[in-house]
Amino acid sequence: MFLVITVISTLIMVIYLGTLISTYDERAYAFKVSEIQGYGNVIANKIITNGILSAASVADASAEMSALAEIYDGRIIVVDDNLKIIKDTYGLEEGKTLISEETILTFRGTNSLYRNNEERYVELTLPIIHPTTKNITGALIMSFSLDSILNMEKNLRDTAGVVGTLVFIVLVVFAAIYVRWLVRPFRRLKVSMDNFTDGYIDTVKSVHGFTEFEAVNDSFARMIERANALESSRQEFVSNVSHELKTPMTSIKVLADSLLSQEEVSNELYREFMVDINEEIERENKIINDLLSLVKLDKKSGEMNITNVNMNEMIEQILKRLQPIAEQKGVELVFESFRNVVAGVDEVKLSLALTNLVENAIKYNVEDGWVRVSLNADHKYFFVKVSDSGIGIPKEAQDLIFDRFYRVDKARSRGTGGTGLGLSITKNVVIMHKGAIKVFSKENEGTTFTVRIPLNYRSPIEGEVEEAQDEE
Ligand code: ADP
Repeated sequence: MFLVITVISTLIMVIYLGTLISTYDERAYAFKVSEIQGYGNVIANKIITNGILSAASVADASAEMSALAEIYDGRIIVVDDNLKIIKDTYGLEEGKTLISEETILTFRGTNSLYRNNEERYVELTLPIIHPTTKNITGALIMSFSLDSILNMEKNLRDTAGVVGTLVFIVLVVFAAIYVRWLVRPFRRLKVSMDNFTDGYIDTVKSVHGFTEFEAVNDSFARMIERANALESSRQEFVSNVSHELKTPMTSIKVLADSLLSQEEVSNELYREFMVDINEEIERENKIINDLLSLVKLDKKSGEMNITNVNMNEMIEQILKRLQPIAEQKGVELVFESFRNVVAGVDEVKLSLALTNLVENAIKYNVEDGWVRVSLNADHKYFFVKVSDSGIGIPKEAQDLIFDRFYRVDKARSRGTGGTGLGLSITKNVVIMHKGAIKVFSKENEGTTFTVRIPLNYRSPIEGEVEEAQDEE
């Protein structure tokens, strides 16, 4: 960044000063030439006013010629049509013949202009034209020093060199300070990130800097927050899992211990205890199975196995499988389909998710209650609604029921064989399908879960790109 700033601004400065100086040279030179040409024409006209080019007529204009030569630090020579020099303001060549390419060309009607930078002079020729015949009767050859322009140009160049060097130094210092200022917040953020990675800190101080940097800093802070949240949820999960897995084990241990501690145990008592132990083992099994499903879902959604599934058939199948449990409880199962829905979903995962909802609706129902499952769709999404006439969920628990291992009434839910993992499995599956799940419930009246899932599954990467485009 430092190099880019200094190189580009130095380049701009050099080009600017260079252009300035060469423009000055061009302008000053053009101005001088046109001025001399103007005076030259006046003199040429004066020499030929009476129509004759002679020593006498030249003498008339002699004063002007000398003045012009003096002012512009130059020399003026007049030749007649025989190329004989009639007047030389230096007084050196009068009477001689001047044969030069420029003079001959002037007699053919071409003005010449010749600049010699090394010798620092400019030479220009002008024809002396007869006022009536318009014949070229002589020529003015004027050479002038370029000293004043070239000296001025040198002065400018020197000044530009000094100014340029000063500006360059200021620029380098400024660029160094600016770049240091620019990268300082990044250095601090890097230290923060390294400390986080090494485990010294678990939050990130907000570092101030320019707007874009602050945005990066905020994103990083949010990332850390999320990492912390994940870490604490992981710890909570591990401790919950241990606790949940330990409970049936403790019961089994207590049951077995009490059997072993008695000398004479009747067959009936053995049986009774064994039935209890068996139940606890089943419960342990169920927890482990649910945990395995959850762990599998926690893996990346790249493992989604999307096919076109007829949702009506899927729901009918689920209800058919759960019918025996519903009958046991005297609960009526109703399926209301508003249209035939075919959607791109992971059949196994979604079937598990919906089964959990219907199973809960049966489990947390009242004797002779009902469960209504409805299916509908619009052009983008399909909707599954599972309503029941059950015990309902208290308002304060409604946000928590999707958490892993959360159960409203632990004792009751244990009686119904619940693990507290069902709804978190369901929610995970819905989210993997880019859908949404909501719960509406009133205690002692019933509960409704609504699930909304896109008809066409979008992989997360496609989704992100489209969302980014939408934002634009
Ligand atoms: P569980 O295995 O205990 O059923 P879930 O995660 O499926 O675990 O549900 C979490 C808790 O939410 C349940 O323990 C229950 O208290 C409550 N719940 C879920 N569905 C319903 C429902 N349809 N009616 C009433 N309570 C429900």
